[in-house]
Amino acid sequence: MEISRQLICQCNQKLYKSAATLKAHLKTQGHIFWEQSTAQKDLNVKINRLEIENSHLRRLNVILLERIGEIEGIKK
Ligand SMILES: [Zn+2]
Repeated sequence: MEISRQLICQCNQKLYKSAATLKAHLKTQGHIFWEQSTAQKDLNVKINRLEIENSHLRRLNVILLERIGEIEGIKK
């Protein structure tokens, strides 16, 4: 059922009897801590991806500068 699915919190997979009890749970330290650590994990994954992308671009830059150097060497 769509409604009951919405009353399950992802942090503990518990089913809450009403929107009010779920809302109260969302304000607990346990839930807030889970939310923050989940956000931190997502950030770490993004940072990791960007670092990999950055190192690929740096390598590509070196290759391109070498090619440009070769072409300019041929022109002279
Ligand atoms: Zn929760």
